[in-house]
Amino acid sequence: MNYSSAIIFNGKGNPLEEKSFPLIENPEKNEVLVEITLATICGSDVHTWLGHRPFPTPCILGHEIVGKITKLGENVKHDFSGDTLNIGDRIVWSMTVGCDDCFFCKNSIPQKCVNLFKYGHERSDASPFLNGGLSKYIILKKNTAIFKIPDNLTDEEVSPLMCAGACVLNGLDLANFSECDYFIVQGCGALGIYACAFGKELGAKNIIAIDKIQSRLDVAKEFGANYTILYDDQTQIVEEIKKITKGKKADYVIEVTGDPTVIDLGIKSLRVGGKYILLGALYPNSKFTIDSSEIIRNVIQLIGLHNYSPEYLGKSIELVSNTNSKYPYHKIVGPIFDLSASDVEKAFLSLDAKKSIRPGIKTN
Ligand SMILES: [Zn+2]
Ligand SMILES: [Zn+2]
Repeated sequence: MNYSSAIIFNGKGNPLEEKSFPLIENPEKNEVLVEITLATICGSDVHTWLGHRPFPTPCILGHEIVGKITKLGENVKHDFSGDTLNIGDRIVWSMTVGCDDCFFCKNSIPQKCVNLFKYGHERSDASPFLNGGLSKYIILKKNTAIFKIPDNLTDEEVSPLMCAGACVLNGLDLANFSECDYFIVQGCGALGIYACAFGKELGAKNIIAIDKIQSRLDVAKEFGANYTILYDDQTQIVEEIKKITKGKKADYVIEVTGDPTVIDLGIKSLRVGGKYILLGALYPNSKFTIDSSEIIRNVIQLIGLHNYSPEYLGKSIELVSNTNSKYPYHKIVGPIFDLSASDVEKAFLSLDAKKSIRPGIKTN
């Protein structure tokens, strides 16, 4: 019998645990067995590990994953786009799986299904056990939206799309993002980097990237940022933005910092009729204070999004595949660590210290 090793999170303060799970010989007819080739660590994995939110345990964390099909259930014939699936195909899949039947699944918000399943966010002590990215193998359950990876994309160019990239693209689309003069990106982690490139491709003439770390702003420049602002307590951000935009202020702002204290600033940076896309500050008690008259008098729209609807993973793969000669997407990922408890902890710490944007775990 074959085994899959995996790293188990047992709750805040407990050491990560290396565990072996027996590999099933044949998946159920609607399931797929995948050999993971790369998993990347999302900021939310680190928040979970640090105990910033209630979380089911024991759990195999990791929800940005790519791999190769090892075994296909007899009913799984096609990917989300209708392409035939075969053993050996390189794939990525939607982070969430809905029931197809509830109000939200039927009303275009399947990522908020009342029976939602989310890879890397479930207990791993019941069959089929392997449901997160920090593992050698994973089992994809019924109704998972699978996408074949185009040959021109590396694992590094695809893995962070499964959470960060698809979420950003869904957020931009929800705001009907279109040609505009100025788009402000608050925060230059993985989501912010994708926001720069995707915003540029969707028609923003000028991207203004803001972050507290200069090296991240330097990366943002490689992804289309025309202007960067290093954020510290001294910076008069709104004045700076007025100067850059010649008094017009921004058409769109996206918040991908995870820090609710930047929201007031984001709203003040918008022009009349501007739109504010909120993706980052999603943890409990992310409170902020705003003057509602600013929203009303300036006809501002606030748009929140959590997770993403599966088609945006496909759209983000297509966008990255069409623009990977323009933007160095592979640079988002690194350094690469091994699949061991000590290495995964190192990867978490490097992201928490903002020494990397997306540490990777090579699982095989
Ligand atoms: Zn994530
Ligand atoms: Zn549902």
